[in-house]
Amino acid sequence: MLFGEVAKAFDQIEQKSGRLEMTDLLARLFEKTTPEEAERVSYIIQGELRPPYEGVDLGMGEKFVLEAIHQASGYPYSQVEKDFEKEGDLGIVAEKLLSNKRQQSLFTSPLSVVSVYNSMFKISRAAGAGSQDMKIKRLVELYNNASPLEARYITRFALGQLRLGVGDPTILDALSVSHVGDKSLRESIERAYNLCSDIGYVARAFKEDPKKIADFKIEVFKPIMPALAERLRTSEEIIAKLGKCAVEYKYDGFRIAVHKRDNRVEIYSRRLEKMTHMFPDVVKAVESLPPKEVIFEGEALAYNEEEKRFYSFQETMHRRRKYGLEEASEKYPLYVFAFDIHYLEGEDCTQLPYAERRKKLESFLPQENIELSKMRLVSIPEEVSSLFQAALRMRLEGIMAKDLNAPYTAGKRKFAWIKLKKSYGKEMDTVDAVVVGYYRGKGSRTKFGFGGLLVAVYNEDTARFETIAKVGSGFTEEEMEKFQKMLEKDKMKHAPLNLDYVMEPDFWVQPKYVVEIAYDNITRSPTHTCGREEGKGFALRFPRMVRIRDDRAPFDATTTKEVEEMHKFS
Ligand code: ATP
Repeated sequence: MLFGEVAKAFDQIEQKSGRLEMTDLLARLFEKTTPEEAERVSYIIQGELRPPYEGVDLGMGEKFVLEAIHQASGYPYSQVEKDFEKEGDLGIVAEKLLSNKRQQSLFTSPLSVVSVYNSMFKISRAAGAGSQDMKIKRLVELYNNASPLEARYITRFALGQLRLGVGDPTILDALSVSHVGDKSLRESIERAYNLCSDIGYVARAFKEDPKKIADFKIEVFKPIMPALAERLRTSEEIIAKLGKCAVEYKYDGFRIAVHKRDNRVEIYSRRLEKMTHMFPDVVKAVESLPPKEVIFEGEALAYNEEEKRFYSFQETMHRRRKYGLEEASEKYPLYVFAFDIHYLEGEDCTQLPYAERRKKLESFLPQENIELSKMRLVSIPEEVSSLFQAALRMRLEGIMAKDLNAPYTAGKRKFAWIKLKKSYGKEMDTVDAVVVGYYRGKGSRTKFGFGGLLVAVYNEDTARFETIAKVGSGFTEEEMEKFQKMLEKDKMKHAPLNLDYVMEPDFWVQPKYVVEIAYDNITRSPTHTCGREEGKGFALRFPRMVRIRDDRAPFDATTTKEVEEMHKFS
């Protein structure tokens, strides 16, 4: 398939705002793709080259792209920069300047989807001396063979921002529509996606044999999307919702998924990144576990022998950084509290009810530093409360109540798991928001050059960020200095392309850092865009900084849908 056809479809999609129309246009494109092309198109829409857990970064910054547009179009660099300042979108700049090219290329050959993808892949792989020039040269080559419209999308792909308003749910719907004309296959396609977290792999498998998607199998070393918990406020509500259920301690550590096959062990974070190198002590303990093939999930945290208490997530990570991995592993060994299992000796356990999954975990744990999460079966609110109090005495976050009959709800926030946290009593829950801009310091903050953050949440349906708060309080002096240094490097003249906003900060930054924000309640305000209806979006009242969440990727931020729920809850 020619890349021109894809660019044309993207252009049409970009002009639509309704999900249905976007889905139909994308479905028509998928109808015409081979399995290999469907794989590539899906990654391109995500602005990725491979699934996130492989950590393949395109690595093209704005400066590279500006240089490539300058070289391919023949316009002076300063002109390209000026146009960028005006348009705020390098895709449009490339399209415009390349259509009035000052220098014609000697010969051009039409680009295919696969060749564009492959060139980008080579760009991402280039490393070492001369690699920067090589990256630019390859992008210039692509521009030389591209039509202006293709140049728009090549540019945005290089920057990892397609700006189509198409999120993963639309891709999944479109795959179903492309084959049966409606969304009836969406559920099984989505299930497959949640079990491997690889949209390209699913698109390819589906195009190869749509029938097989219904019994898509988990694979070791392909991480599963984590199940998420709903929230309730009291023990009574929990028993009313679940009846007899399991209650586990909620450990405030680092969520890990452990994959083992024979002697190979890999550890993935909640954001599906491979983190094996960070946990040499856990790897060693897992190596000696009896199962040959297993995937299980747990919370990793360090324990303080003297004070007989667990360290929090921040303290654990701080120690790992301060003492280095080797020394930290000796002095502050990690404990893993396993709380779920996905796979055991060839058997997919995700469809089994919780009670059976727990039995499977208990069949080979505890061992060394790999413990089972503490669990009790309860039937009345008083039992829930007493476990909750016990958890607080241990300085843990709270408890998780689990539905005994529910399967593992990969990638979904369901009432199969319900969290009850100590903060719920006196204040509201927190949101994990993405930093999209920051303010200069005024008054006593002038010396820090930092006065606060503009933060956003993620809308899964549109794959866009929407602002929800301007956060000016809760920062320590250290944090202000840290933010200033960190954000200074990433500041941009223009708002990120994938952001909807009204309020403007002093400086924009690429959505990259996730912060946890506490608030009093959620209201409607014309200055924010989260879940906007009739000109008013959701906004956090009295937002305050709690902490930086290093363990979250921007796409793991709280979603617009969750904010809607939390609004009802507040
Ligand atoms: P929070 O910010 O409250 O930790 P979250 O957004 O990280 O929430 P939730 O789905 O709301 O994720 O809560 C589940 C989290 O609680 C899991 O991500 C996991 O890291 C942690 N956790 C700790 N103990 C348990 C347990 N026993 N069972 C399941 N999850 C647990």
